[in-house]
Amino acid sequence: MPDARTADPAPESSAAAPLDVLRRVFGYESFRGQQAEIIEHVCGGGDALVLMPTGGGKSLCYQIPALVRAGVGVVVSPLIALMQDQVDALRALGVRAGFLNSTQTLEERRDTERAFLSGELDLLYLAPERLRVPSTMSLLDRGRVALFAIDEAHCVAQWGHDFRPDYLALSELHERWPDVPRIALTATATEATHAEIAQRLDLRPGERARHFVASFDRPNIQYRIAPKDEPRRQLLDLIRTEHAGDAGIVYCLSRNSVERTAEFLAAQGLVALPYHAGLDAGTRAANQARFLREDGVIVVATIAFGMGIDKPDVRFVAHLDLPKSVEGYYQETGRAGRDGLPSTAWLAYGLADVVQQRKMIEESDGDRDHRRKLAQHLDAMLALCETVECRRTQLLAYFGQRGAPPCGNCDTCLVQPESWDGTVAAQKILSTVFRLDRERRQKFGAGQIIDILLGRRTAKVEQFDHHSLTVFGIGTELGEGEWRTVLRQLVARGLLAVEPRHQTFVLTEESRPVLRGEQQVMLRRDPQRQARRARPAGSSAAQPALAPEAAPLFERLRTWRGATAKEQGVPAYVIFHDATLREIASRRPASLAELGAVSGVGETKLARYGEQVLQALTD
Ligand code: ADP
Ligand code: ZN
Repeated sequence: MPDARTADPAPESSAAAPLDVLRRVFGYESFRGQQAEIIEHVCGGGDALVLMPTGGGKSLCYQIPALVRAGVGVVVSPLIALMQDQVDALRALGVRAGFLNSTQTLEERRDTERAFLSGELDLLYLAPERLRVPSTMSLLDRGRVALFAIDEAHCVAQWGHDFRPDYLALSELHERWPDVPRIALTATATEATHAEIAQRLDLRPGERARHFVASFDRPNIQYRIAPKDEPRRQLLDLIRTEHAGDAGIVYCLSRNSVERTAEFLAAQGLVALPYHAGLDAGTRAANQARFLREDGVIVVATIAFGMGIDKPDVRFVAHLDLPKSVEGYYQETGRAGRDGLPSTAWLAYGLADVVQQRKMIEESDGDRDHRRKLAQHLDAMLALCETVECRRTQLLAYFGQRGAPPCGNCDTCLVQPESWDGTVAAQKILSTVFRLDRERRQKFGAGQIIDILLGRRTAKVEQFDHHSLTVFGIGTELGEGEWRTVLRQLVARGLLAVEPRHQTFVLTEESRPVLRGEQQVMLRRDPQRQARRARPAGSSAAQPALAPEAAPLFERLRTWRGATAKEQGVPAYVIFHDATLREIASRRPASLAELGAVSGVGETKLARYGEQVLQALTD
């Protein structure tokens, strides 16, 4: 292990400087953003709460202090399915890492415990539920802990969107080990969640604990929210025109739509694999492994997929159904483009989504407070969908970073949607609902309301005598699609509600001022064409910067990497990231020393793969 302690005869007083470890072990030249400050603080024994977006470089913030400080860095992470990959990636760097979770055999667990106690580990990953087991606590007592890292720290927040009861036990860590520094990290936290994490983990800012809040912006991700039309066709169009051959994740709400979407994409000749809780564990693991290991695989999944997946080259994340919260949306879309290269976050959204989600909230278990929380999360998500302003400005404001200028790289910046005075249109819909409301036993959906407004004498209109209503035919100034858009926005804003039992529209308290003409309703007109990045067909987002003469070398290196990864049974990016291979292809290093200067090539990887890479370049 090329870290300080093997070189240092007195491991108690490690002499390695963080920058030295960054260069030798990780092969990176300099720290990014607040990394240096955070690492220095934790190395010095301080506690830290770190809010940094996905891809910001959180892992180094605890990995380097774990290597610099005496003892083992204990990382608490809920991502059991990924611990093996995380540990593999560290081992490939020459870091001594292990994990303890429920997927191991007794023997594997014993081996790891022994390595921990005899000081043969630098990092130990633990599932939070293991900390509830008294034997784990006593194990930690008997070894030497360099620090506790609490990954996905937002899981401790009960008011947040991803609460995990096991996380509450983490408050005990500092009571039991008051001298061991703790670093809590998350990529998703509103101001309220931030405060709750600090309170529950006793990390309120003070002398010992510092908070590091990075900008949440992910400038390389292009955010787009499209009106839902034929979602699978729209998705296919996105993939074909902008992301051919790219890896991506497609999120759907139900298992059924996951299956059908994966089948649809596969029938179009794409490599698309389903992932949801209804599949057996073996299939899930195999599909996840292919996504991680092969290039250009698309996974169609429920939200159960992707947490903590640090595949750096996911080029697009698509949502075919509306996410339940902005936090969830931001976390899921954040899985795109961790390598900093251009990526797309695309969401298709329509009236049925709003109706369905409102209904699910009404019917959900739990008390009024719980339902109120769900409704607030949904309202924030809907506001993002219906905004006429920059999506990024709004997202950042939601996470407490107010006043960001329009980004120029989201759909509303690229094709400015119009806003129009929809007061009269809203009144027409609300009046129609008011008249239908008297027949509440009946189920009248959006179709019936629109038929009435457009004056269509359909069978159902005649059956209920709706052509004799005063509102019949008063809405011919708009087309059917436009009326749907208006209806969607009224429901999204709570000016109209959905009565869950009959799934019919009803007025709300907020409807009345509109009906009485006391309140103006500004609406969004969906742009006709969706924003699209100008990129030549067939070229992928990841490819723009490579010079033509470097491209074949890059392909050769990728082939070598693919074969090596397969041989070793690890994901390709564990060997080298795309960005590193691209730099090698452009620079064409002729010696090991030149190769070692490439970002992402540390000592261990240079020793392990250096000759092979040089060989691949000269072949
Ligand atoms: P996070 O956990 O915040 O999502 P990671 O720790 O996975 O982010 O880092 C994202 C990517 O950036 C990884 O590929 C990592 O190796 C790389 N990275 C992190 N810090 C640096 C740095 N100082 N220099 C170069 N690359 C870095
Ligand atoms: Zn924008």
